[in-house]
Amino acid sequence: MFTLPDLDYSYDALSPHIGAEIMELHHSKHHQTYIDKLNAALEKAPEWKNKPIEEIITSLDQLPESIRTTVRNNGGGHYNHSLFWKILSPNASGQPDGDLTDSLSQKYESFDTFKDKFSEAALALFGSGWAWLLPDLSITTTPNQDSPLSINGVTPLLGLDVWEHAYYLDYKNKRPDYVAAWWNIIDWSKVGSNFRAL
Ligand code: MN
Repeated sequence: MFTLPDLDYSYDALSPHIGAEIMELHHSKHHQTYIDKLNAALEKAPEWKNKPIEEIITSLDQLPESIRTTVRNNGGGHYNHSLFWKILSPNASGQPDGDLTDSLSQKYESFDTFKDKFSEAALALFGSGWAWLLPDLSITTTPNQDSPLSINGVTPLLGLDVWEHAYYLDYKNKRPDYVAAWWNIIDWSKVGSNFRAL
């Protein structure tokens, strides 16, 4: 059975960029609900219950059809949020070091241009979903809780949750303000180690 991963920081640690009330709701309610629904669905396919989440969401077409959509949404939700918490930090450096900065600058002309392109993608996404940086340093978006691991078959380096539940309490309808603030709390050392682990 899947369980809610602990955060490496307190709910108020990312304030003012993401406030404590959102963090607590997002982690202890939204993420927990994905896990509860995933676990409930897997009760109907017990042979999958002890598999890693990565294996489950890359094998959706092998799951019983009756639970496939539920697992796609809620297994994706569990995987995506688990990654999201890990790449955030109250001790953010603002910019990746070494290899990743060089590689992003090569692909996008500069690190700031990369940030602009990523933000544009996040803002252009209609409705609920995620913006992602993939291992080849391309930027993509997915709707709902679809994960690049399921769709593209790759482990994303970085993901931005642009569901309204991720920002509405702090930013109301102003997704651009949330996206701009989010750059301040990225743990680039974590993203860099995701990149170097490839
Ligand atoms: Mn979310």
